Amino acid sequence: DSLGPTVCVGEILVEIVAATPGAGFLEAQPLVGPFASGAPAIFISQCGRLGGSAALVGCVGADDFGRLNLDRLARDGVDTSAIRIDPDYPTGSAFVRYRLDGERDFVFNLATSAAARFGWDDATGALLARAGHLHVMGTALAMASAWEVIDRAVPLVKARGGSVSFDPNLRKELLNDPEVLPRFSRMVAQCDLLLPSGDELLMAAGTDSGDRAVAALFDLGIGEIALKQGAAGATVYAAGAAPVSAPAFCVQELDPTGAGDCFGGAYVTCRRLGMGIAEALTYACAAGARNVTVRGPMEGAGTRAELDAFIAATERRA
Ligand code: ATP
Ligand code: MG
Repeated sequence: DSLGPTVCVGEILVEIVAATPGAGFLEAQPLVGPFASGAPAIFISQCGRLGGSAALVGCVGADDFGRLNLDRLARDGVDTSAIRIDPDYPTGSAFVRYRLDGERDFVFNLATSAAARFGWDDATGALLARAGHLHVMGTALAMASAWEVIDRAVPLVKARGGSVSFDPNLRKELLNDPEVLPRFSRMVAQCDLLLPSGDELLMAAGTDSGDRAVAALFDLGIGEIALKQGAAGATVYAAGAAPVSAPAFCVQELDPTGAGDCFGGAYVTCRRLGMGIAEALTYACAAGARNVTVRGPMEGAGTRAELDAFIAATERRA
C-alpha cells in the first residue's frame, strides 16, 4: 500500500432501481435512487472505506448525478483527481428492474454519456505515475476510452514494482468482438491477481475444466486467483500453495448488485495492507455479503469497523 494508491478505471453512473419486481419500464412505477454506481466505482469505494489508498479514473457530467458520485467517493476517502467533469454530456445512468426469477431488465445511458468521456490526460498521467496497483474491471474493456488508459497504466505500474488485478466480469457476447477478445486475453496474461466469478474462471483460462483452468492460469504467471462463488463463498488459489476456501456469510439478500465488486475491493485492499490470504478472504466475503443486505449497488460497502462487527455477528454457511 505504501507504494501508492490502488487505481481503478472505468464507468461511473447512477443507478435508479424499480421499487417493485416485474418486467421492464413500460409503465409509470415507483423508483428508488439515484444511487452512486458503476463496477469500478463500487470496487474503489470499498477500497477507500476499508482504509486503503484508492483512486478512480473516469468521467461524470456537470450535474447532480455526477456530484452525487464525486461526493460519495470523496467521503469514502477516494482520490477523485483523475475524474473528469464533462461540461456537455450528462452523467451515465442505468435504470434497473428485477424480475421475480432474479433476471434483470435495464435501460442504460452509458456509451453516449459522460461515463465514456475520459482518456489519458495530465491528471491521469500524474495519478498513474504514483500508483501502486491497477485494478481492471472487465466492464471497462467494453469502453474504447478505457483502452488507452489501461494500455499505458499497466507497464507504468509494473515498472514501479506495483501489481495488477483483473475482474473478468464482462458479458460473454463481448468476447466475440475482435477488438475485445485480444484485450481480454492480454489482461488475463498481464495480471498478478485474477478475480473471476463462476464460469469466468473457464472463460479466462480458455478451457472447459476447472482443474485445468487453475493450472493454465498459473502457467501464464498469475500468482493468485480469487474465485467468487456467490452464496457458496469463495476460494483462493495461490501458485505453489493449497487452495484456501471460505464459506459465505448467512444473510438476507436484498440487492445482489455489487457483491463481486465489494469482494474484489476488499480482497485487493486487505492484501495490499499486508494481510494473509485467509484473513483477506474473510474480509472479502464479509464485504460481498454485507453489501447485498442493503439496497443500492454500493450502499452496503463496509468500513473496517463495520466489517469487523459484521464478521463477529454473522453466522457462516455450513
Ligand atoms: P456480482 O453478482 O456483483 O457480479 P460476482 O458474481 O462477481 O458478483 P459473487 O460470487 O456473486 O460475485 O459475490 C462475491 C462474494 O460476495 C461471494 O464470494 C460471497 O462471499 C459474497 N456473496 C455474494 N452473494 C451472497 C449471498 N447471497 N450471501 C452471502 N454471501 C454472498
Ligand atoms: Mg462479477
